[in-house]
Amino acid sequence: MTLASVPRYDPDAAARVGDHAVVVGGSVAGLLAARVLADAFDRVTVVDRDAFPDDPVARDGVPQARQPHVLLEAGRATLEDLFPGYGEDVVAAGGLMLDWTTDLVHYERGGFLASGASPETLYAASRPLFEHAIRARVAARDDVTLEGDCAFLGYRADGDRIAGVDVRRGDGARASVDADLVVDATGRASKTPRWLADNGYPTPPEDTVDVDVTYATTVVERPTDDRRVLFSPPTPPRTRGGGAFPVEGDRWLVTMQGVHGDDPPTDRDGFVEFADSLPVPQVARVLREQAWVTDDIASYPFPSNRRRRYETLDDFPEGLLVVGDAVASFNPVYGQGMSVAALEAVCLHRALADGGRENLAARFFDRATAAVDPAWLLATSSDLARPQTDGSLALHERAFDRYVARLVERAHDDGVLATAYGRVLTMERSPTSLLRPRLAARTLLPSR
Ligand SMILES: Cc1cc2nc3c(=O)[nH]c(=O)nc-3n(C[C@H](O)[C@H](O)[C@H](O)COP(=O)(O)OP(=O)(O)OC[C@H]3O[C@@H](n4cnc5c(N)ncnc54)[C@H](O)[C@@H]3O)c2cc1C
Repeated sequence: MTLASVPRYDPDAAARVGDHAVVVGGSVAGLLAARVLADAFDRVTVVDRDAFPDDPVARDGVPQARQPHVLLEAGRATLEDLFPGYGEDVVAAGGLMLDWTTDLVHYERGGFLASGASPETLYAASRPLFEHAIRARVAARDDVTLEGDCAFLGYRADGDRIAGVDVRRGDGARASVDADLVVDATGRASKTPRWLADNGYPTPPEDTVDVDVTYATTVVERPTDDRRVLFSPPTPPRTRGGGAFPVEGDRWLVTMQGVHGDDPPTDRDGFVEFADSLPVPQVARVLREQAWVTDDIASYPFPSNRRRRYETLDDFPEGLLVVGDAVASFNPVYGQGMSVAALEAVCLHRALADGGRENLAARFFDRATAAVDPAWLLATSSDLARPQTDGSLALHERAFDRYVARLVERAHDDGVLATAYGRVLTMERSPTSLLRPRLAARTLLPSR
């Protein structure tokens, strides 16, 4: 399920189904879940172990926030549906509105992708600003309470139903919060599988594909009128990638990515040397020509794509859902996590609208897995194409991978193919859309 196939948010479809919903984790997935739950419950409370900041700053609970975050079209359009004017909020706070068909300088498989014929919006901002703009909209609602400095300790069960959560507030006091529905949005380190095991439920089978990618990022000044996004991903067999991502405050986040142990250094000379080893000189040039805002280089290791298959469980407590990275997290090079969280929020909205709380978990997980599928396919097929990765592609997946490689090579000179590929990368269309006859002909026939 991609933006093209997901039923979009429809405020008229929402129906009241309960009094109180609690969302655990107030990052992107949790805030988006809270937004759609507010249509269906009288009150929604979002608890997070971090205090919620008033400004767009990185929080301890989201350590990846210092790394660049791209908001793909599937996320952008869904956020705009949920919060009309969201993009304007981001721009008003200093973010940039770009056109990815021309402002993105994307090098892959030996060449730069051609420009597209028609403009496609891309908002560029730091991860804290994207989250802040969502949080401001959610916080402005009377029916949603954001309770920061409030750590989740465990679920409270009443028979086969989750009836609330136990929390520890900032002053150390423990409390129980009643809820008709609890949503786990605590990210990759979610404790729900452990809780299920401890309470006699089956645990979700896990799919993992190792990637062992390490990010390292610094901040440099950016001339106001230079709005380029420079990107050279670590496409197999290369183990190195990098880019420069424009953000608010006339800055670029400059990032190096190293796969399977080829970690980018975090000292200045080593970092620039790593940039010099990229197949294109643009990123290293930015590092040499622009003033560094800081000498600090923030490193972040990401071991594996991981997917918890909640949709396969036939015994799962009522009144509990899991969303966002707590369900699936992907090789971040493809920038999919926030957009998958946005599509999942729409899945939750539709599941509530179609059947209320009746059998909600099974109906939600079925829909959510369809939102995860294309992102998982894109991220893991590229990772599995590496000899260092455990596991391998099935025959038809290998054939598809070779086809996409050829399409990308052709897209160096063909704006139609470049745009089609971009629409898959931005989760607007599914990877199989690249097989459409018109695109297949441009990919496979001798070039004109
Ligand atoms: C290096 C890197 C780069 C990335 N780049 C992109 C990108 O370009 N584009 C993109 O869309 N995505 C990107 N992602 C993914 C993106 O960061 C996540 O998908 C996104 O943040 C959604 O995650 P989430 O809300 O599910 O969880 P998280 O963002 O991990 O948030 C979990 C929340 O739960 C809270 N929490 C945890 N435990 C408790 C507890 N016990 N009690 C209370 N609160 C708790 C935390 O404080 C936090 O607020 C990247 C990820 C990484 C690692």
